[in-house]
Amino acid sequence: MEREDLAQGVWIFKSRFAKMLSTLIELDGKRAALVDPPMFADEAAEIRGFAVKQGLSVDFLILTHAHGDHIYGAAHFPEALIIAHRGFWDFWCRIGAEDREFFARFLPDYEIPEVRRPHFLLENGSKIWLGRRLIFKHVPGHSPDGLMVELPREGIWIVGDVVIPTPLLSSGSLLELKRTLRELLKGFPGGVLVPGHGRALRGDAARGAIAANLGYLERLESAVREAIAKGTGLRELLKVPPERLGLSRGDLDPLDRWIHRENLRRAYEELSGSA
Ligand SMILES: [Zn+2]
Repeated sequence: MEREDLAQGVWIFKSRFAKMLSTLIELDGKRAALVDPPMFADEAAEIRGFAVKQGLSVDFLILTHAHGDHIYGAAHFPEALIIAHRGFWDFWCRIGAEDREFFARFLPDYEIPEVRRPHFLLENGSKIWLGRRLIFKHVPGHSPDGLMVELPREGIWIVGDVVIPTPLLSSGSLLELKRTLRELLKGFPGGVLVPGHGRALRGDAARGAIAANLGYLERLESAVREAIAKGTGLRELLKVPPERLGLSRGDLDPLDRWIHRENLRRAYEELSGSA
């Protein structure tokens, strides 16, 4: 896996599934926490092997939200204690079947493991001292249970899918995601931002990514509100191409286009009150 060293004892690993980022955090010289373990057994083994070489055992898993690509990998660390937001389990019970269906379709050869119930469910603002100071914040919008991890001393924010190359509302809320992104933009201290997918971003590049996500959502909202006001049906609305809303990085793959249509559908439901 591609690895990047973010700070002393903090590394990120890029999964082959949609460049999902896992962050390994050394806690006290012996123990480590892994944020969002990778889905695939070989990738999990690689991270575990790397940790062992550093003299670390992965004793904690932190899950930024209950979506398959961020949580199925917990099965590869059966001895680790799991930390998530207090809304995690209820949300997973609601969307688990749909999530499994998506991954069964998208990765037909992947054997979906049983999802484990977290051991610790955290409130917004929880602070944990495990040899390293970790602060947890509730960041809803992409999903209702979004949990970001802040390493205040290192200036690192691990935000999960709240910031990703192509924003996805899926099971979340447009208005909530906008609010969360605005708060992130306002509060970002200028260090390192680890998004759910892609690569770590620093300083202005990080601010730019948050602002770009927000800009897309604002254009999405305008397009959807206009369609509702004009009485345009959802079917017509779904024809609005992602490029028209500023998603024109030139590398839009079928998954990005699917995400964009899902966003239109979700925003239409939310803003027309039909959900
Ligand atoms: Zn997600």
